[in-house]
Amino acid sequence: MSSELLAVDGGLPVRTRPFASWPVFDENEERLLLEVLHSGDWGILSGNKVTAFQERFAAFQDARFCLCVPNGTLALELGLLALGIGEGDEVILPAYTFIATASAVLRVGAKPVFADIDLDTYTLDPEAIPAALTERTRLLLPVHLAGRPADMDRLLSLAREHNLRLLEDACQAWSAEWRGVRVGAQGDLGAFSFQSSKNLTAGEGGALVTNQPELYERCWSLHNVGRVRSGAWYQHELLGLNLRMTEWQGAVLLAQIERMQEHARRREQNAGYLIEALSQVQGLEALPVDERVTRHALHLLILRYHPEYFHGHSAAQFAAALSAEGIPVSQGYVPLHHSPAIRSTLMERFNIDPADTCLPNTEWAAEHTLWLLQNVFLGSQEDMDDIVRAAVKVQNAWR
Ligand SMILES: *Cc1c(COP(=O)(O)O)cnc(C)c1O
Repeated sequence: MSSELLAVDGGLPVRTRPFASWPVFDENEERLLLEVLHSGDWGILSGNKVTAFQERFAAFQDARFCLCVPNGTLALELGLLALGIGEGDEVILPAYTFIATASAVLRVGAKPVFADIDLDTYTLDPEAIPAALTERTRLLLPVHLAGRPADMDRLLSLAREHNLRLLEDACQAWSAEWRGVRVGAQGDLGAFSFQSSKNLTAGEGGALVTNQPELYERCWSLHNVGRVRSGAWYQHELLGLNLRMTEWQGAVLLAQIERMQEHARRREQNAGYLIEALSQVQGLEALPVDERVTRHALHLLILRYHPEYFHGHSAAQFAAALSAEGIPVSQGYVPLHHSPAIRSTLMERFNIDPADTCLPNTEWAAEHTLWLLQNVFLGSQEDMDDIVRAAVKVQNAWR
C-alpha cells in the first residue's frame, strides 16, 4: 500500500489551521470586570461577585455550599486541613494525577499512599484500596480524571466500612455526574480548579464544595485567617491562611459558567463523533462507557495506544508524528511515584521510595496513553475528521 510522507519526515502536514482557541470570552466578561473596577469593591469583603459565583457553582454541582480559593492546589490543601488530616495520617490516592493531589498531602504533613488505577477508567481502582489500608489510613482521595467520575459507589462504601473521610479531587470535573448527581459533594469535600486550561476558568482559581455545614464553616474560617463569621475583625479562632479569591476572578467565573452547558454539549457531540470515527484505526481506543457516568466533563479525551498496531512505534513516537501533522496531542502524566519532588520528599520524611510501589496499571498508562484537550472539541466536525486522517496517515506510513 502506498503511503504519504509523514510531516515528521519532511512531508506536508494534514493540517496547519489551529484548533478552537481557549479561553473564550465576550462582552459579559468585559461588563462584569468593569463593574468590579468602577465599584471599587475589588475584594470579597465588600464585593458580591465571588459570593454570587459561589451560590451559582454550589447549585451547579448539586452541593449545598461552595467556597472559592485562589487555585485548585490550595483547595486541596485547605480541604485536608479542614478535615484534620496531618502528621501521622495516611491518605490513599492514585499516582496517575497532577502533582498537586500528592503535594497537598505532603504539605499538611500526612503521607500519600499510592494505589493503582483501573485502566478502563484511569481513576482509582477500588480493588486496589484494601491492600493500601493501614491503621493510620484516614482519607480516600480519588481523582475524577479527565472529567470522568471515579467509582463513587465503591469508594463511598469503602470509606463507610473503614471509617475514612473522602475528599474528591474534582479539579477536572465541573459538571461531571455519577448516577445523575454532580460530583464534589458526594464525599465529604470536593476540590475544583479554574486554572487557564480548565473547562471553567478565570486564569487561576479554585473552590471547595460540601453538603456539611460544620465542614463549610471550618473551611470558611481557615480560608479567612481563622476568623469566625459572627466574630470581630481581629478575632481569630483557628490558625488559618488568607485564601480569599479576588472579585476579578469572581466576575470572570460568573460569565464563564453561563457557557458551560453549551460548551459541554459541543464537546460531547464532537468527542462522540471522533470516538466513532476512530474505530477504523486499530490500536487506538477510547475507554469503555460506564452507564453510571451520566456526564463526562471531557476535560481530556483519553485514548489507549497499542504499539503492536503501529509496527512497534511507541506512544511518544506516535504523539510526535501526530503533532507534526498539526494535531495537538499529549502523552499525559509522569506518574507521581516517579516524580523527583515526591520521591525525594517521601524518602526524606518516611524513608520509603514510592518508585518501588507495585502499580502495573499506572506504569502501563504512562507508556500507552494519549490525551486530547477539551478545547479541541469546541470546533467543528471537520476538525475531528482531520484527527482521524492524521492517525490513519501515520498508521499507514508505519505498516
Ligand atoms: C489542575 C489540577 C489541580 C490543581 O489545580 P490548580 O488550579 O492548577 O492549582 C489538581 N488536581 C488535578 C487533577 C488538576 O487537574
